[in-house]
Amino acid sequence: MPTNEMKRIYLSPPHMSGREQGYINEAFETNWIAPLGPNIDAFEKQLAAYTGSADAVAVSSGTAAIHLSLQLLGVGVGDTVLCPSFTFVATANPIRYCGAEPIFIDSEPETWNMSPSALKRALEDADRGGTLPKAVIVVHLYGQVSKMDELAALCEQYEVPLIEDAAESLGSTYRGKQSGTFGKFGIYSFNGNKIITTSGGGMLVSDDVELLHKARFLATQARDAAAHYQHSSMGFNYRMSNILAGVGRAQLEVLDERVAARRAVYENYEQALSAVQGISFMPELHYTRSNRWLTTLVIDQSVTNTTITELLECMAAANIEARPLWKPLHLQPLFAGTKFYSHAGNIAVCEQLFETGICLPSGSSMTSIDQVRVVDCVKDVLTKATGKSIQSA
Ligand SMILES: *Cc1c(COP(=O)(O)O)cnc(C)c1O
Repeated sequence: MPTNEMKRIYLSPPHMSGREQGYINEAFETNWIAPLGPNIDAFEKQLAAYTGSADAVAVSSGTAAIHLSLQLLGVGVGDTVLCPSFTFVATANPIRYCGAEPIFIDSEPETWNMSPSALKRALEDADRGGTLPKAVIVVHLYGQVSKMDELAALCEQYEVPLIEDAAESLGSTYRGKQSGTFGKFGIYSFNGNKIITTSGGGMLVSDDVELLHKARFLATQARDAAAHYQHSSMGFNYRMSNILAGVGRAQLEVLDERVAARRAVYENYEQALSAVQGISFMPELHYTRSNRWLTTLVIDQSVTNTTITELLECMAAANIEARPLWKPLHLQPLFAGTKFYSHAGNIAVCEQLFETGICLPSGSSMTSIDQVRVVDCVKDVLTKATGKSIQSA
């Protein structure tokens, strides 16, 4: 069979539990077709309980949740916010929505997430200049939780509020505590490709219930307590639909199963590819448990004698959706000229990761036959290339 007729294997497709329709029907039967209603109340309560947060606010996207958290911290024109360079653009765009500027922090090799030593230098410089950032946003990429002890201690030392972009890490833990619950605010995303989905949506969590009360106010156009429509502050239309919250309720019920399934996909890949020279998977600190949202790996090109471009081309030819790792934000035209703090000296860890890493299809509904197809493809490219190098040596 020609490869292009083979069923496409997606990177991270939605995986419904089968109970979503029931909650959607309930919304229709009770006519709660609005950005408020019983599904929203229940979804918020259940997510807060799952993560161990005091409360949660369901919003239209993870990006909206980040924007709200920055608004609540008073981020405005002329301010700076520190965030990792190695992340999706949605982490940094809301900083600009507020009229503020991001300063990018490099990754460190043990988690691929924000480097505490680079953060330390950035905070020292800012302190010396008398311009401490308004917030630090930490991201837990591909499900791996950042070095929270070190990062939180630095934020505390300089009294800068910490926001966790846990869009990719719902269900991941650090010393047994859920990612997203270490900072002033945590945010999750339910976009179609995330570990659980509402097709689109997000959640803002915090232990500060008063601030979350204010978040609900800001997310519903900031209407003052008056029968007529009166407004003293600028608001947004950021609430989640009660229909989509129904999808979220059913998805949350199976989150633990989804984490287990993604971890199993990772373990299969790791086992099957462990014999291939020059591959290393994204590490996991022994006191953390990643949800393994995506299985990611880097190749040592001097050993494999091939590039990720060749690897990705082969995957594409086999109708397998694989992707490079996130392109660092300090290299994006959008953020040209923005300050960047490297992990150590002139070596940018995030640039090296970007140049040598890929994400493998990791959906929780992936069959073992699909996984074998991916493994065979990787093996094929890398062993052929290694063979080539042996012959020419
Ligand atoms: C998906 C994602 C977001 C944005 O979430 P949306 O719900 O798509 O707005 C933010 N940060 C990271 C790291 C993400 O992966």
